[in-house]
Amino acid sequence: MVPLLSEWPVLSELRARTESLRPGRLVVAALDLLLPPTCILCSAQVDAPGLLCGACFGELSVIGAPYCTCCGVPFELAWHAAEGGLCQGCIDTPPAFEHARAALTYDNASRRLVLPFKHGDRIEFAAVLARFMVQAGAELLRRADIIVPVPLHRRRLFVRRYNQAALLAQTLGRMTGRPVMVDALARVAATRTLDGKSAAERRDEVAGAFAVRPRRANLLQGRRVLLIDDVMTSGATAGACSEELLAAGVTAVDVLVAVRVPDPREKSVPRRAYRRRRPGQPAKF
Ligand SMILES: [Zn+2]
Ligand SMILES: [Zn+2]
Repeated sequence: MVPLLSEWPVLSELRARTESLRPGRLVVAALDLLLPPTCILCSAQVDAPGLLCGACFGELSVIGAPYCTCCGVPFELAWHAAEGGLCQGCIDTPPAFEHARAALTYDNASRRLVLPFKHGDRIEFAAVLARFMVQAGAELLRRADIIVPVPLHRRRLFVRRYNQAALLAQTLGRMTGRPVMVDALARVAATRTLDGKSAAERRDEVAGAFAVRPRRANLLQGRRVLLIDDVMTSGATAGACSEELLAAGVTAVDVLVAVRVPDPREKSVPRRAYRRRRPGQPAKF
């Protein structure tokens, strides 16, 4: 079968390159006619460049209630929340930040957005992820004085050439008009990958890895900061950054991330345990 014109790789590339030159309206209209814009993840036609088609959008799991009132980790069922609507992790080790919210669950569908964004130079995905984040973090964005991204260590920044959290922070700043300070924090120690580590191991690994830049400390004092990252797993990185910001005189820190790795304990609760629990009895994991 002959593919659609817009599916020919050379023509898609031509379209992307022409768009990067910020052409005028007439050129864009001509492009739309010749090469209709396609979904950023597949070849389905969409109304405008930079959008997801209905099918790819539908596969994403947008996080909604019920979730932990503190760290925002989603619960499968509302009664999994312990006292105060908290998850067990927030009860055992209360995080330094006030509230964290995430836009999407980390799963096969969101990985198609996050991994190319983080490791594959698809920096244009920042706008798509940020649109989801504006929805999930509307309240946090409204009360933030300054938006601050989680920093990369300079060696990793040299290799990757961009900090994906900073791109999200800048995009959110443009969308909401909130001020952004991309260099408020520095990663002063290179940390090993946190993949496969427990929450306690993650906290140990990132302890002391971040610092507020002295020349920025004055501007942060007495302000409420919204910390931005692409992925949140245990919250160890967000917690370590929050501790540094609070020590520098920030009044409070909230956290907004694009995707959230679900609590593995949610999946490990056997279905029979659900039935055995009496109504009103708090969930134990
Ligand atoms: Zn699609
Ligand atoms: Zn929690």
